[in-house]
Amino acid sequence: MIPFIDLAAQQARIRPALDAAIARVLAHGAYVMGPEVRELETRLAAFCGAGRALSCANGTDALALPLMAWEIGAGDAVFCPSFTFAATPEVIPWTGATPVFVDILPDTFNLDPAALEAAIEATAAEGRLRPAAVIAVDLFGQPADYPALAAVCRRHGLKLIADSAQGFGCTLHGQHPIAWADVVTTSFFPAKPLGCYGDGGAVLCTDDLLWDRMDSLRVHGKAVAGDASLDGHDPKYLNARIGMNSRLDTIQAAILLEKLAIFAEEILLRQAVADRYAAGLADVCLSVPAVIAGGVSTWAQYVIEHRDRDGLAAHLRAAGVPTAVYYPVPMHLQGPYAAFPRGPGGLPVSEARAKTVLALPMHPYLTPEVQDRIIDAVRGFNG
Ligand SMILES: *Cc1c(COP(=O)(O)O)cnc(C)c1O
Repeated sequence: MIPFIDLAAQQARIRPALDAAIARVLAHGAYVMGPEVRELETRLAAFCGAGRALSCANGTDALALPLMAWEIGAGDAVFCPSFTFAATPEVIPWTGATPVFVDILPDTFNLDPAALEAAIEATAAEGRLRPAAVIAVDLFGQPADYPALAAVCRRHGLKLIADSAQGFGCTLHGQHPIAWADVVTTSFFPAKPLGCYGDGGAVLCTDDLLWDRMDSLRVHGKAVAGDASLDGHDPKYLNARIGMNSRLDTIQAAILLEKLAIFAEEILLRQAVADRYAAGLADVCLSVPAVIAGGVSTWAQYVIEHRDRDGLAAHLRAAGVPTAVYYPVPMHLQGPYAAFPRGPGGLPVSEARAKTVLALPMHPYLTPEVQDRIIDAVRGFNG
């Protein structure tokens, strides 16, 4: 079986640097909030050319931290897509707020700005919930339509979060999503484009006060600058708000520093893989991925559409080609989420796409030879 994501190829490339980085942490012993954590936060912000980064335990907490810092809660509506990983809507009810599911664009599968505006206006008109924030998703690695989404958010006074767990490193007209969003979040889960060897996440923001509040929240609400006077006590044991424990391990930060050093090159390698797939498959699928004009994707997934998706997946499995379905059931149709409100007109695009999408093997080290075997296997299916 061809690997779906080949993490071993990347590891083989940088193994000596990883070993040395891990050995440095073992030598200095600052396993929690060690120097590599600060260094990584500086480098992540520099990579995006703006803002400040705050690392945390995973990409799910990264979404919860800004919602908590803004004190979003009961009575608030947070708008998000349904065609996404569960973490996107999951954090909203954690705070007491209500997710409102909004449909996606038919070509990019990212949040539809017109559907978003209609959902905000319908929610405001109904008067039961106060529109408070939007979580857009950079699905499969490509940037959402941030200029349009940010304009909608500005018009209605909403905060904008970019869930870039799959898309960290993506750009639109040469700029990272932080150029438009109040906050950008990411995940360092091993299979994400920028992954560590365990769980990890980060939040990018441009507001120093917000950074301080999230820094407090990730360490049990510890007192930070601007909180009540410390009276000579250790701020670690003075708690200004109810927080959580969501720190990134120093060892994971050390690993990420080595991976970040080759990340820009890996995005280019992924683009070459995507281009080869598009050239080989465009005429035999319902669709190959369409990237927004001016956009650069990190290609977390390469997702085609096929009328007989399940037949094609079985045919590929028999040929030694693994595939995956992201996502088979949109979140608004899943048990715990089914009762939450939806934008006017429902989510017909999300429901249709869930039936046709199929992700093919994708990683920076996929060779043209192996890729041609995959392309030939898809082309050999007579579904
Ligand atoms: C992976 C992912 C997350 C959550 O990241 P974890 O690190 O697994 O908590 C959030 N949103 C999206 C879109 C994701 O793909």
